[in-house]
Amino acid sequence: MSPRPRSPEAALARLAASEERQDRLTHTEHLPPREGRYALWPPGVREEVVRGAGECGVRDLWAHQAEAVDLALSGRHTVIATGTASGKSLAYLAPVLSAALDGMDAPNGRGATALYLAPTKALAADQLRRVREYGTGVRAAVYDGDTPFEEREWVRQYASYVLTNPDMLHRGMLPGHTRWASFLRALRYVVIDECHTYRGVFGSHVAQVIRRLRRICARYGSDPVFLLASATSAEPGVSASRLTGLPVAEVTEDASPRGEVVFALWEPPMTELLGEQGAPLRRSATSEAAELLADLARGGTRTVAFVRSRRGAELIALMAQERLAEIGLARRVAAYRGGYLAEERRAIERALQSGQLLGLASTSALELGVDVSGLDAVVLAGYPGTRASLWQQAGRAGRAGQGALAVLVARDDPLDTYLVHHPEALFRRPVESTVLDPDNPHVLAPHLCAAAAEHPLTEDDLPLFGPATAPLLAQLERRGMLRRRSGGWFWTRRERPADAVDIRGGGGAPVNIVEADTGRLLGTVDAEAAHTAVHTGAVHLHQGRTYLVRELDLEASVALVEEAAPPYSTTARDTTAISVLSCDESTRWGEAELTYGAVEVTNQVVSYLRRRLSTGEVLGETKLNLPPRTLRTRAVWWTVTEDQLAEAGIDPAELPGAAHAAEHASIGLLPLFATCDRWDIGGVSLPLHPDTGLPTVFVYDGHPGGAGFAERAYRRAEEWLTATREAITSCECERGCPSCIQSPKCGNGNEPLDKSAALRLLGTLLDGAPTRGSAPGRDAGAAHSTGGGGD
Ligand SMILES: [Zn+2]
Ligand SMILES: [Zn+2]
Repeated sequence: MSPRPRSPEAALARLAASEERQDRLTHTEHLPPREGRYALWPPGVREEVVRGAGECGVRDLWAHQAEAVDLALSGRHTVIATGTASGKSLAYLAPVLSAALDGMDAPNGRGATALYLAPTKALAADQLRRVREYGTGVRAAVYDGDTPFEEREWVRQYASYVLTNPDMLHRGMLPGHTRWASFLRALRYVVIDECHTYRGVFGSHVAQVIRRLRRICARYGSDPVFLLASATSAEPGVSASRLTGLPVAEVTEDASPRGEVVFALWEPPMTELLGEQGAPLRRSATSEAAELLADLARGGTRTVAFVRSRRGAELIALMAQERLAEIGLARRVAAYRGGYLAEERRAIERALQSGQLLGLASTSALELGVDVSGLDAVVLAGYPGTRASLWQQAGRAGRAGQGALAVLVARDDPLDTYLVHHPEALFRRPVESTVLDPDNPHVLAPHLCAAAAEHPLTEDDLPLFGPATAPLLAQLERRGMLRRRSGGWFWTRRERPADAVDIRGGGGAPVNIVEADTGRLLGTVDAEAAHTAVHTGAVHLHQGRTYLVRELDLEASVALVEEAAPPYSTTARDTTAISVLSCDESTRWGEAELTYGAVEVTNQVVSYLRRRLSTGEVLGETKLNLPPRTLRTRAVWWTVTEDQLAEAGIDPAELPGAAHAAEHASIGLLPLFATCDRWDIGGVSLPLHPDTGLPTVFVYDGHPGGAGFAERAYRRAEEWLTATREAITSCECERGCPSCIQSPKCGNGNEPLDKSAALRLLGTLLDGAPTRGSAPGRDAGAAHSTGGGGD
């Protein structure tokens, strides 16, 4: 076996050793080691818990754990937001298990109960294993869609700690709350694990599910304390309050020891390959990550490479194996995909621990059921979308206080390009806070119906569901969804309202994804995303597996798919028109104007492109015949005047390309400020928009009623558009490429685009912006018009 290099620096030095590679390393950040700070177990934690923790190897608590336990025991709603492997689960398990043990003295043995919510079933199963390791005798059980019916009754009657997910709470537990009466009556704690994953539309739905839970608990006389765990996020207390509707104390100072981390930012080189409009293509993050993984393994550095899809994980492992075959090391690298059996996971863990396995290519950290302690390095093939996930993945290396290397390999898009050239955005700014909008009427309405079905709504319930509730109830009454009687609002229909809403989707009937050969239902995709994601011929990733869509049947709301491994990915092309419904807030930047408001977007998916998976090269385009769709949502838009264009030297022929390029790049950068995905938002740019009478660039939320993304864009417009300009400047291409102004989902085939005019346009816009860092709309009283948005 090759010797393990002594330090992360040494491993990085080897990677960047050759001359051609030195340029690819754009930045190295040294995060110093940290000493651990310990604390005593707070009084109130049961002896059995302390003993159980001891058997799992925990003697003392770290200071942040003790702080969180203290808060929880004193009845404060608390969010703990510290790093990976900082013992967040013990911080909520100590009070939860102590309470459950205290409750065992009650006549029915269940004087105190707790509920655990996780975003995935795998995490709930993991939690069960952990609780059992403590050996306290507390009756814990998973209750989800996979729980056999004969076990469900036992869980309802006897379990003190029930582990589930928000979907099951929404569809099962709350509508059937009478069967959970004794559990809910005794409910002392609600744990919300990985709470940063509840963002956007899904997060907004979960926020309303939690409000329904609080209302039902109050009916049974309980008032549970909420304990939340988050991978680091900015203002975790604010996000947790928005999610629960309660004041939440935050614990953020990580007192666990950490070895030195060397964090490298890496940009793959330009290739000879040509993409759309003859633009140069950068080498793909997948190929580059495979090469780095192979080189690290060759040097004896135990490494995991993270990538978004299972197919990507397989590809990286395969390419790394090919590189290592010549020196007989091919078998020392493997792919890991979620969904492995426990034995397979243990075997991988053992192989990594022993050094028999030197490299692993894997899908994201959240579904990683394998314990990868003892790793030396992590390679991230592309920015994982949020800084919270970035730190979660990077934190997988160098546990037990050793040094670790993390390498972020940029994908060929504006956000990654910006990040590898602006390390301060990753290392010097606070991590983004989570964006969600529980007041979105499209989200709130079905939960009001569900709540009314659980127990009639009364005037007293209005504050709980927020300011949008009263007008919405009146509307639901007019539409005959709810009936108003003296006792409040009633649900009188036969169907269960909770069944009609998929909390992971946006609204409208979701499209079912069905395996053509077996008829098995694999999952669903939101109605509004269906045309783009599962059109006939689309390559669709579902929970990391790759499927080819045989047929999208809109009448039946079904996409028939088959599992496949095509060597290409697909991207839908569409055309979009937009009209302004209302201007809710606006602000002047000199002559330019920025507005936030409601819009109607009409969109038609017209074709799709196939791109080679390993290089991104375009292989061909296929026409589609799909009807147009309209979406009422929120948007942010900006306009500039003729004078500004003249001053910036942008002539009328350049304007369409300038506005279009600025629109693309700004969509690419918004995820850095609004915890959204590039695919959650859309844009339209016009040299003359009929509603504004001026050149206008729109960026809109892709979900009915909005998910808070456009609003966040408006509030942080100056930072956002400054970063957009810098991303374009950073790119070394001459006339535009996928790393700066081209978009993989452009409806116009990335035409026209004008890189230099886009920079002048953004320059003239930003010239009038308030000082960097102050939010727009707060000064000068420029706001006008407040018409109600949505519908
Ligand atoms: Zn470029
Ligand atoms: Zn476009």
